[in-house]
Amino acid sequence: MQNLTTVLVVGGGPAGSSCAWKLASAGVRCLLIDKAEFPRDKVCGGVLSSRAAGLLIKSGMISTAELDLLTEKTHRTLSLWDREELLRSYTSDNHPIRIISRMGFDNFLLEKAGTSGAEVITGETAVSIDSSSVRTSSNRSIRYSFIVGADGCNSFVRKTSFGRSGRKTGIGFEYILPLSEVNDITDGLHIHFGYLPYGYVWAFPGREKICIGAGVVGSKASPPEVASALKEFLEARRISAGNHVVKAALIPSLSLHKSLGTGQIYLAGDAAGLVDQVSGEGIGHAIESGFLIADAIIFGGDRKTMLIRANEGCLGSVRQSEFYRHLLFSRLTRRLAMRKLKESETFARAYWNLISGSQSYNDMFLRLLTRSG
Ligand SMILES: Cc1cc2nc3c(=O)[nH]c(=O)nc-3n(C[C@H](O)[C@H](O)[C@H](O)COP(=O)(O)OP(=O)(O)OC[C@H]3O[C@@H](n4cnc5c(N)ncnc54)[C@H](O)[C@@H]3O)c2cc1C
Repeated sequence: MQNLTTVLVVGGGPAGSSCAWKLASAGVRCLLIDKAEFPRDKVCGGVLSSRAAGLLIKSGMISTAELDLLTEKTHRTLSLWDREELLRSYTSDNHPIRIISRMGFDNFLLEKAGTSGAEVITGETAVSIDSSSVRTSSNRSIRYSFIVGADGCNSFVRKTSFGRSGRKTGIGFEYILPLSEVNDITDGLHIHFGYLPYGYVWAFPGREKICIGAGVVGSKASPPEVASALKEFLEARRISAGNHVVKAALIPSLSLHKSLGTGQIYLAGDAAGLVDQVSGEGIGHAIESGFLIADAIIFGGDRKTMLIRANEGCLGSVRQSEFYRHLLFSRLTRRLAMRKLKESETFARAYWNLISGSQSYNDMFLRLLTRSG
């Protein structure tokens, strides 16, 4: 019976590929379509948390050796800044953070979905949806029993099925520059608060290139303000972007779909708003939600268990980030947060643990309160 289930996954980013891989591995008939031809790029800082890496390896979707090959650089050191004032550098003994290139990483995951038995069609856009079928850009009609909207921040599946989500949008701008053109940022991950409300400027070195960007979530900052924060940072660092092109993309902002869809329609990754509202991390949540949705479908549409597990994992974590972001970014507590990061290694470690995905917000807060961290 289960083998006859046809699942249509719309979107072949980390959410869609992980979902299709798991479904096909369990023998569920599954078709994935993506509007892009692969390999395709995605505007992203390229940070892969140790939690995201653990999910991929533990599931068996990719091996450690394969992930190592996809990894451009592994970081253990983070420097935290208030604009150009260095607050603290922190080096972690464990839970490294990898830098991956989304072009190669996403393509690899999509290929894994294909080799596990999912049918993959690229260059095909979902253009209309009714209760049992989807029409695509090449006028193909695809019947489905379940549909998984894994079609990113501007999700067509979500908009068509559940209406527009939220009023706020997050946005990120970034340059990918050769490391040789950036002299004073070579070591570790750099995070600069203070350039933007509810956001930050980052510099994440890879093997030969560095991603320098600025982004906000749930912020009043307009796209031009985010772009000018990035410009200000480059000027402060005397970095010339030369002829390199700045790229921008939306980040889901305070738009969590708390049930990950309803009925036969599931939402995964950015389409469900599963992006951390402090760090902007979304790859790990995309993978986790893809796996959870696949399990729910494999077990005949068991949404209840899926939601219990999601609330303990990605959904719960994003919800916590919606609350804790105020401690770091709000006008009332920002100064205190900067002071704590400067004075206390415990706070810097807590920040590392959050972005590496090795500790939950609630655990971190309890530890800080009891000072046992
Ligand atoms: C500037 C910036 C920096 C970021 N940095 C990081 C970071 O360092 N680390 C991190 O973890 N996260 C980061 N994120 C977030 C991360 O990129 C996303 O959370 C992640 O890509 C979500 O994966 P996904 O599979 O849900 O969506 P996506 O990766 O966006 O994939 C969606 C796919 O759906 C396809 N699609 C869309 N519409 C249709 C349609 N109608 N029909 C068919 N296909 C369709 C698209 O072509 C795309 O391939 C960043 C985001 C931004 C904007």
